[in-house]
Parts: sequence; C-alpha cells; structure tokens
Amino acid sequence: MNKKEMSLRDYIYKGVSFESEESQFLLMMRMYYLITAAYIIAFYIFGAISGILMKVPILLCWLPLHIGCFFTTYRCDRRVVFHIFSGGILTWLIYSVYLMGEDYGAHYFIYPLMVISFFATYRNFKGKVIYMSFLLALNIGVYYFGKTHIPVIEITETQGDIINIMYTVTLFLCMFVICFIFSNTNQSALEKLNEYNARLKREAETDALTGLMNRRCMYKALEENMLVQKSVFSVAIGDIDFFKKINDTKGHNFGDEVLKVISTYFNEFMEDKGIVCRWGGEEFLFLFPSHKLDEAYEYVLEMKEHIEKLPVTYNGETISVTMTFGVEEYKAETMVTELINKADDKLYSGKTSGRNRVIK
Ligand code: GH3
Ligand code: MG
Ligand code: MG
Repeated sequence: MNKKEMSLRDYIYKGVSFESEESQFLLMMRMYYLITAAYIIAFYIFGAISGILMKVPILLCWLPLHIGCFFTTYRCDRRVVFHIFSGGILTWLIYSVYLMGEDYGAHYFIYPLMVISFFATYRNFKGKVIYMSFLLALNIGVYYFGKTHIPVIEITETQGDIINIMYTVTLFLCMFVICFIFSNTNQSALEKLNEYNARLKREAETDALTGLMNRRCMYKALEENMLVQKSVFSVAIGDIDFFKKINDTKGHNFGDEVLKVISTYFNEFMEDKGIVCRWGGEEFLFLFPSHKLDEAYEYVLEMKEHIEKLPVTYNGETISVTMTFGVEEYKAETMVTELINKADDKLYSGKTSGRNRVIK
C-alpha cells in the first residue's frame, strides 16, 4: 500500500523541481486533472445508477480524453498544456449546459480557469484583459444558452442536488490546489529573492581571496563609529614586510596562501575585540571600538609577535612573514581619511625604521 502511494506521488511529481515555477504549474495541472478524474468516476457511478449514462453513452469518452489531457503535462510545453486545459474546460462547460441545463454549477469552472490563466500564462496585461473579457462573454453566452435551450436529459431534483454537491466539492478541491501551489510558488520565489539579496550583500562586503570584510564595508563601520557621540576607538593599519619578494621568489600562489593564513588568524584574534578588513593588496585595517590607543597597541603587538611565528606552508615549503603596524586613536571631529592617514604615517615610519614593529 505504502509502496503504491509512493509511486503515485513520484509519478505526479515527475520532472517537478521546486526551483522552477514552470514545473510547479505542471504539478498544479496534474493535481487538477486527478481531482477532476475522481469527479468523472463519481459521475459515472452516479450516471450508471441514475440511468443518465445509458442515455448519453458518449460520456464514456470523457475519461479517456481526460487521461489524455493529463499526459500532456509530461510531454507538452506549458502553453500547449494550458490551451488544452482551457479548451477541455470550456467544451465540458458548454456540453454540460447543453446536456443538463445551466442549473448545476458547471459555469463555476470558469473561475479556476480565470485564476490559472492569470497566474500561469505569459500573456501581458492587455492579453489577460482580452482573455478575461472572452471568458466573461462566454459565461454570459452560456447563461443565455442554458435559459433558452431545452436540456437533452431531464434531471430530477435529487439528481440535481447530487450533481451540485459533486461540482461544489470538486471545485473546492481544485481551488485549494491552485491556491496552495501558487502561494507555495510565491513564497519560495520570495525566499529565493531574500537568499539572493543576502548573498549579494555578503559578496559586496567580503574580500574574495581572504574572506575578510572589504574596504568599502570597513569604511561604513568607521563612519558608524564616528557617528556615535563621544565615541572612543582606535584603528591600526598593518602591511606585510617584503611581500613583493615572496611573490617574486616563491610565486604569486604562495603569496596568496600567506594572505589567507594571516587573514584566518586576524579573523580569530579580532573576533571579540573588533573588526578587521583587507584594506588593499597586503594591507589590513583593524578597528578596535571602545579601545584607547594603549589598549589597541597591546593587541596589535600581540598580533605582530604571533605573525612572525605563524608558519605558512605551500607546496611542501614553509615560511613565515613579519608585519609592520601603525596605531592611531580617534580624536573627535577627525575625518575617516584623516584618521587612516595618521595610522598610515606611523606605519610608514615603522617601515623606514626597520620594519617588524608597531608604532603608536
Ligand atoms: P614593504 O615591506 O615596504 O611593504 O615591501 P613590499 O614588498 O611588501 O612592498 P609593497 O607593499 O609595495 O608590495 C606589495 C605587493 O603585494 C605588490 C603586489 O604584487 C602584491 N600583492 C598585492 N595584492 C596581492 C594578492 O592578492 N596576492 C599576491 N600574491 N600578491 C599581491
Ligand atoms: Mg603595501
Ligand atoms: Mg608590504
């Protein structure tokens, strides 16, 4: 039993990917056809008991045609599927009124058709308005046709009640399927959009090689810190010593590995102290919120000492590098560029006075 249920489910979901709205439409069509197939079978049972089926044996073609329409969802393009679907509904609608009159709710099936055509076709607004007008005209036409035409078969009151109940249940289930699939599609489209936006934001703020925050994002963080009244914070800028030489003698890939290893360490070290970004090629900028110059200096000194012992291995060869840093404390009314220039000047003086040092 369980295996049977699974295989039916697999069959309905065949080729359906939740990433694609196109296949969600196909899924909806399949469920719609299955519900209406159940209706047709119920109608056959009712028709056999009431004798209606004997009077109109041509109705026996209805189920095979319906099954044929169901299979179009596996073979045909979305447009073809929709046209066959709408053609089927409209034919049934007119035929049903011709057969039994218009008192039994067949024309209500125009509404799911309207909803599906609005959400699932590629028509532009004008096209949709034209199609809606066509459905409206058809609905009015069918109404007058039903009023003036004498039904082929006579339906008793009880039979009419049964047909009405069957129509109502079928219509209700069809509308449920349509709403469920469309709300799901919209929800997943929204989730995808949010995910995509978050990824774009992450990428716009991150340096691709090291995974550190990039310069633009750090700028924003610096400005935010400056906006906080009476804010106390310090910055430090660090540059790898003789980095060009590493590139020249060991290769650019080795240089990249150095950047990555150092960045990983910075990221871990700064986790509870502030933020770090890749400011440029082999330069890093550190922000220590709420830290005065001396406190920031101590942290930077700790990093500098760790870096010189930090092994970087690439292609079986291990080296370590040194770095020079300049540290500066924020003074009220200073601009971001001014603050960084001051730290940079100290870095420069560290370079000229022998490198591998921290200047505060
Ligand atoms: P100094 O001690 O004076 O800083 O000497 P230096 O050799 O480090 O000099 P400089 O700062 O001018 O050199 C920076 C070098 O960093 C130049 C550039 O080729 C290299 N570089 C910049 N970005 C990257 C990168 O993403 N990967 C690699 N491998 N090298 C980079
Ligand atoms: Mg440099
Ligand atoms: Mg350098």
